[in-house]
Amino acid sequence: MRMKEDHMLNGQLKPGYNWQISTENQCILGYTIHQTTNDINTLQTHMESLKENLGKMPETLVADAGYGSEENYEYLEKNSVEAYVKYQYFHKEQSKKWREDPYRTENLPYNKENDSYTCPMGQQMNFIKEKIKITDNGFRQIKRLYQAENCNGCPVRDVCNNSKSNRIIEINERLNHYKSIIRERLTSERGKKYRSQRPVDVEAVFGIIKWNRNYRKFLLRGLEKVEIEVGLLALSHNLSKIAARN
Ligand code: SF4
Repeated sequence: MRMKEDHMLNGQLKPGYNWQISTENQCILGYTIHQTTNDINTLQTHMESLKENLGKMPETLVADAGYGSEENYEYLEKNSVEAYVKYQYFHKEQSKKWREDPYRTENLPYNKENDSYTCPMGQQMNFIKEKIKITDNGFRQIKRLYQAENCNGCPVRDVCNNSKSNRIIEINERLNHYKSIIRERLTSERGKKYRSQRPVDVEAVFGIIKWNRNYRKFLLRGLEKVEIEVGLLALSHNLSKIAARN
C-alpha cells in the first residue's frame, strides 16, 4: 500500500494493512483489518463487525471526513445509526469566503419551476443528462448535469469556467440531502461536543499504541495472523485502560 509515512518521499509501495478501530472513552470496542488505503470503503465492513461483537449496531457514530460518502450515509441511515461523520470540505464551507463565492456550484441558485440553475452572469443552466457511477462496493451514484447556454465572450469566463465548452455543473441530489442533515447535526451543540471529543478518544488510542508503546509495525505476516496480533494488542490496551481507572 502507499503509506502516509513516506520517509523516502518517493511514494514507494510497502506491504501493510489498514487497521480500523472504534473506541469509546479510549477503550477499543472493535477492530478490523483491511487491504485498502481508502478509509471510505472500510466503514461498512467495520460496522458489521462491530454489530457482531456488540450484539447490536451502535446508536451513534462519530468519524472524520475520510468516511463521509453518499453510500456510507445511506448505509448508516438504513441501520438507524445517527451519523456525525464529516464530509469533504465540511470545514471549508463554514468560511465566509466559501459561502460568498458566486462561482461555486453549491452557491448557484436553483429554480424548481423549470429544473435549472442560474449561473453567476444570470444565464440559465439547463438539465442535460444523468451521469451514473457504480462504486467499488456496487453502489449506484447518480449525478444530474446542467449546462450553461453560452459561455462565449463571457467577461468572467476565466474565473468561472475552465473548460472549452459551456460550463457544466454536476449535482448529486442524494448526497446533498445527506450533507444537509449531517451539517445540521455537526453544527449543533451535541455535534460540536462530539467533534471535539473524537480526536481525544480515537486518535489518542493510536497515539498511545504507536508512540507511547512504540508499536510501529506488525510483527506477524498475513491477514489471519495480523488479525490475531491486533486483537491481542486491543485486549492489552483495554486492560491497561481499565487497570488505570481502578
Ligand atoms: S462562464 Fe458561462 S457559466 Fe460562467 S458566468 Fe459566464 S456564462 Fe455563466
